[in-house]
Amino acid sequence: MITKIIASQKITEVEELLNKHDKIAIVTHVSPDGDAIGSSLGLYHYLNDLGNSVNVIVPNSFPDFLKWIPGARDIVDYEKYPELAQKLIAEAGLIFCLDFNTPKRTCRLAPFLEAAKGEKVLIDHHPDPADFCDVAISYPALSSTSELVFRLVCRMGDFEAMSHDSATAIYTGMMTDTGAFTYNSNSAEIYCIISELLKKGIDKDLIYSNVYHNYSEGRYRMLGFILSEKMKIYSGYNSALIWLTNEEQNRYKVKKGDTEGFANLPLNIKGIIFSVFIREDNEMIKISFRSQGAFPSNKFAARCYNGGGHLNAAGGEFYGTMDEAIAIFEKALPEYADLLKER
Ligand code: 5GP
Ligand code: MN
Repeated sequence: MITKIIASQKITEVEELLNKHDKIAIVTHVSPDGDAIGSSLGLYHYLNDLGNSVNVIVPNSFPDFLKWIPGARDIVDYEKYPELAQKLIAEAGLIFCLDFNTPKRTCRLAPFLEAAKGEKVLIDHHPDPADFCDVAISYPALSSTSELVFRLVCRMGDFEAMSHDSATAIYTGMMTDTGAFTYNSNSAEIYCIISELLKKGIDKDLIYSNVYHNYSEGRYRMLGFILSEKMKIYSGYNSALIWLTNEEQNRYKVKKGDTEGFANLPLNIKGIIFSVFIREDNEMIKISFRSQGAFPSNKFAARCYNGGGHLNAAGGEFYGTMDEAIAIFEKALPEYADLLKER
């Protein structure tokens, strides 16, 4: 059984907004992941099918292994088409904010989002949402925003109307935010929802293959390199660090998304409960955190790098050198020694 998690009042409010507006923008976070793209396109197809004029706008590009999702080619990338992206946000009567909890997470889109006159609906599963939307559908206990989109559509009485494309996008987001249902996925209802999506005719085996059998050769060569040369284990703290410089990434011709999942790798090692991946990006250093059990990677991210996220998957940014970023991590580890001992 799928229980009614979203408050009825919120459903009514979204229905009223949809009755009022037909020019809709869907916005998601910077460096969009599978859940960001999956939830956005799941909602995009649904709203399009209802006859609205809908546009998905992303702050920057997303990985190739998400580009096969139906509708992905229609997404407007602010980095490529800044004027169009701004115009679509400014002219939308209704703006859906998907898979982020504060405008800051949309980076360079944030000022346009904040200035936009359109009414806003948040659909998200990150803790501590900022108060920037007219209606906030925020449920951090759920494993993905895509699941929330499914629940919203069903609660508006439109499961029958949900298209195959919408169902495919939603399943992709649910799958990628749970590592293909290997973590954060113990809720029985997730599998009831998958069962409903299968009734829509989705090919879940093909979706898996499209996402996880679609990496570049460079990624796999680099994987060998990092596992042998660039992974440091802090056994006293059950922790691990992987770090990659720009030069190393260039050596393996890294493209967007090629380093996806690297942060998780050390968790495969017996005893490791906290993993950190530090990577030089264009203008900053990007840090990803993964943990197992109760260790709060989001608190670590917030404290050390002004970041945030979920308990077991978080991230942050750092403006400085790689050595400085690593030093901050190594200095903080002993302060978390007690929590890192708990298995
Ligand atoms: P990833 O490591 O896959 O980039 O991000 C994992 C999770 O951490 C994301 O789903 C998001 O919730 C969070 N996250 C990543 N980067 C940042 C960041 O710079 N700031 C905040 N607040 N959260 C982040
Ligand atoms: Mn998500």
